[in-house]
Amino acid sequence: MKIVWEPSVYIGNAPVFCTICGRRAYPLRTRGNQLLLAVIYDRHEVVRGEACRDCVASGPTGIKTRLQERIQSLQAQVSELQEMTHEEMQTPSLEQEFQVHRHELP
Ligand SMILES: [Zn+2]
Repeated sequence: MKIVWEPSVYIGNAPVFCTICGRRAYPLRTRGNQLLLAVIYDRHEVVRGEACRDCVASGPTGIKTRLQERIQSLQAQVSELQEMTHEEMQTPSLEQEFQVHRHELP
């Protein structure tokens, strides 16, 4: 994996999501007013997303740690969702739905 600062291919200063940590990453503005993003490439030179400045600054070891943390947090979310599928589901009654539409819920 390789991270390279490159001119942003997006329009404006809109944030992207860091592929490593999942947080918002804003492009870096150079003195020449160019917007740069840290683009992640895999070993086949295929773009795998963008990285935030914190991840870039944390270096190869830090990035591996951050990836492990993210994997654990995503796995925890997956387990939570899987647990939900094993539970009995109850949706609001029709009467409750009508109350919502009439703004009558207490
Ligand atoms: Zn990040």
